[in-house]
Amino acid sequence: MTVIARFAPSPTGRLHVGNVRTALMNWLFVRERGGKFILRIDDTDLERSTNAYEEGIKEDLGWLGLNWDESFNQSHRFPSYEAAANKLREDGLLYACYETGEELDRQRKLQRVQGKPPVYNRAGLSLTDDEKAAFEAEGRKPHWRFKLSGEVAKWNDMVRGEQSVDTSSLSDPVLIRGDGSFLYTLPSVVDDIEAKITHVIRGEDHVTNSGAQIEVFKALSEHLPTFAHTPLLVGKDGKGLSKRIGSLSMKELKEQGLEPLAICSLLGKIGTSDPIEARPSMEVLKDEFSFDKIGRAPARFDEDELLLVNSRLLHDTPYEAVKEHLESMNVGGAEEFWNLIRSNISKVKDAAGWSTVIYSPMPGRIEAEDKAFCEAAANALPDVITPETWGQWTSTLKVDHARKGKTLFLPLRRALTGSDRGPEMGKLLELLGAEKAKARLLGETA
Ligand code: GLU
Repeated sequence: MTVIARFAPSPTGRLHVGNVRTALMNWLFVRERGGKFILRIDDTDLERSTNAYEEGIKEDLGWLGLNWDESFNQSHRFPSYEAAANKLREDGLLYACYETGEELDRQRKLQRVQGKPPVYNRAGLSLTDDEKAAFEAEGRKPHWRFKLSGEVAKWNDMVRGEQSVDTSSLSDPVLIRGDGSFLYTLPSVVDDIEAKITHVIRGEDHVTNSGAQIEVFKALSEHLPTFAHTPLLVGKDGKGLSKRIGSLSMKELKEQGLEPLAICSLLGKIGTSDPIEARPSMEVLKDEFSFDKIGRAPARFDEDELLLVNSRLLHDTPYEAVKEHLESMNVGGAEEFWNLIRSNISKVKDAAGWSTVIYSPMPGRIEAEDKAFCEAAANALPDVITPETWGQWTSTLKVDHARKGKTLFLPLRRALTGSDRGPEMGKLLELLGAEKAKARLLGETA
């Protein structure tokens, strides 16, 4: 069987970490099975959906490497939804209701006071033609509800195992609003049927929804996809995502300088039995993916962990992969520079700082008590730096000045780089060159 899955964002905002995780789960599953990945734009809400957001979503997915094989917009498919609605009406499964929002609110309040569940009382189902005509004469427009069977909808979820939703505990869902617009439920089912979606992979906030949608599927066709509901993202403290993290967009993460592969590595691994670590490619992530590895516990998203994964990824990133990026930043140095500093940065843009240290004029940073030592070190430094220089030079300094460890190395590092920490000094000294190094050891700007 060829698997076909879809990611179905609403273009009412940019992609954030939560929906990217859903997109990623779909993509990984499809690519691992050699199937088809469809991007469905859920833009039935014509007022809130915008072209700019749709383009933004496509840009974000492209940037992340989540390529799709086909895409379509729900807003182009209203005739299919109308046809499905008509079929349901003919089968007595879609009925007109005339309550206003306030009336429904009042009903729910009353039910609560009476200790009853706030389930719609199905008044619409027993309206006579005269009663309907009277409502219409008042200027009321009907909204349309799907008649649930009252039975227990069951499915075997790829993540959650055997699932059941008792539809007698649910209100008959509204499929069409009073203004004639479609809510999400029906278009989604119609599209999943027509696109022959084999797997619906989405967050577990849709579990109850799936109970009702399964009944709509059954009312319209023989086709029923397999469902996978993945646990939701929570913050690092295990509590719900904070508003800030919940709305953390790809645009923002991109601007912060995070690598798409780091984002996919983290989002692909949290909440699974695999370790959370940088993965070398989407290919590898895909090969490692399995729904069997996804637990029932929520997946913890931690921004600091994302930064860590990003820096780990850079440690192993070859020059070729960042060449363009470095060039666009006007960073001096080439492969040997990158190989030297990549273990000391958490974002590619941090390379700019090291480029300045190595290739731009900078004053040597020397503490008063190290002045004489640094001056002596400058005099002892040969004019030509080779790969052996650092070892030989510091061995001599160690003996001559009776310094070792931190007291030997830290003043040299500070004078040459201005920092207490950083890349391996032997190689750095080579890139710096003797002239610059000597000047900085004397406290000069070079
Ligand atoms: N547009 C829906 C959402 O973003 C799609 C849900 C689904 O995957 O069926 O929640």
